[in-house]
Amino acid sequence: DDSWLHLPNRWGIPVDICAGTDVPIESSAIDEILTVLATADTLERLGAVTGHTEAAISRVVLTPDLHKGAGIPIGTVLQTRGALLPQAVGNDINCGMRLETTSLTADQVRPRLDALERRLRHLFFEGGRRIALSGLQREALLRDGLPGLLGAGVPERADGIWSALRPGDAQPGRIHGSRYPTTNADAFRDWIHSAGGTSFDSIIGSVGGGNHFAELQYVSAVHDRQAAHGWGFSLGQVVLMVHSGSLSLGHQANASGLDQARAAWPGGVPLPDNRIIPLMTDGRSAPARRRYLDAFGNAANFAVGNRFFLSLMLRAGLAAECGELSADLVYDAPHNLLWQHDDGQVVHRKGATPAGGYAEAAGGPYAMWGEPVIVPGSMGAASYVLRGHGSPRTLASACHGAGRRVRRGAAAQAGDAELDAFLRDFRVVTPLDHRDPAVTRRSDVMAAWRRDLKQEAPWVYKDIGPVVSSLRRAGVAEPVVELRPLLTVKG
Ligand code: 5GP
Ligand code: MN
Ligand code: MN
Repeated sequence: DDSWLHLPNRWGIPVDICAGTDVPIESSAIDEILTVLATADTLERLGAVTGHTEAAISRVVLTPDLHKGAGIPIGTVLQTRGALLPQAVGNDINCGMRLETTSLTADQVRPRLDALERRLRHLFFEGGRRIALSGLQREALLRDGLPGLLGAGVPERADGIWSALRPGDAQPGRIHGSRYPTTNADAFRDWIHSAGGTSFDSIIGSVGGGNHFAELQYVSAVHDRQAAHGWGFSLGQVVLMVHSGSLSLGHQANASGLDQARAAWPGGVPLPDNRIIPLMTDGRSAPARRRYLDAFGNAANFAVGNRFFLSLMLRAGLAAECGELSADLVYDAPHNLLWQHDDGQVVHRKGATPAGGYAEAAGGPYAMWGEPVIVPGSMGAASYVLRGHGSPRTLASACHGAGRRVRRGAAAQAGDAELDAFLRDFRVVTPLDHRDPAVTRRSDVMAAWRRDLKQEAPWVYKDIGPVVSSLRRAGVAEPVVELRPLLTVKG
């Protein structure tokens, strides 16, 4: 059928692009596809030379928002027979989307948006937040995730944390709660105990730059009434969406993982020429592999914690300006992560989000509908929540956004009039207060601000409608609700 493109290759690896005729794949994506095939080639040859056949790639799925990344392209789902590929996770380990429903409606919030904007700028950018964690608390977060920080007794979904899913259940390969198992946080010991500019306290609660965001949205349409009801959505309701990752922690974990993979590489065998180096499953590689999985888990735990704090900051702003509210977690969906399955296979998703069905969600609170799939559009367009079907063809994965249409460099060339029109209709909170006369006088500062915003403007991203319909037609996921932005915090 026309939703798929199968790429023949000489190793017989199933390589599929979930495309759909309604979402054109960028021509530059061809280069990225070749990068993936070249990686398959190197790993296959290395397996033949060293006997490490677990490095071999057993399956690849490419999403329609495929684009260039460091090493492996973003939008790649890559399954190996056991080897770990830090470069197929992405440097921003456990970058992901957190979504919470609230008890507020758009009508209650709209009249307060000016005040809310000021308050959120203060909270996010002007030192208004105080997330003072002790060394022990930081370590607990990194080692044991949010349950480690907040106490294991936190009941299911209390405070919006879906962590006590099943005690001890954080098995890679299953749908995750918000805890990634590690044995220690040694890789980040200095960082846990350091103070000052680059300390834990200065980082936690940061959105991160570029495409990361913390957004107030409202439910603008319901497409699947039963699932929407089951997940706590109602028309006109305010919801919180946070897109953020592990900030500098993921980079550090991946860089050292790669160093260790290099060090554990068998002598006499040349390193792969594309510099994509796997961590094998043999005894010699075991210590490096264990260290990587711990640092990886620490970074992943930090990312969930950071998204949790960012949503608390949105909640705090809303509570101060719009009155008391309650909020419930719908889902925290990672899109840069690896999953180890019981059969030994390892699924890496880099810029792709899980879209499991009933089976993958079995035993958890999503068994009824399948896994929630969060697909953001842009700060000036709709975002969607879908329910996954666990499509084997996509390794139960979906694209993690509409995807870029205009490259970063080219985006800055858009006209100021376009940006002004956007700013009349939508609210963006950035570190700079663009309405403050003291700021507007500074033409150089304003020009830089405009340039940055244009890189993230709605017109640089693809139309979300066809992206969602292609997911539906390909049997990947079904739309549940549509969300529209009320206010976007861009880091
Ligand atoms: P990416 O990692 O692909 O650049 O970002 C993920 C996706 O988030 C993008 O493809 C885009 O569709 C979406 N996105 C980027 N910025 C925003 C934003 O400010 N708000 C919303 N709702 N979506 C965004
Ligand atoms: Mn991301
Ligand atoms: Mn990220």
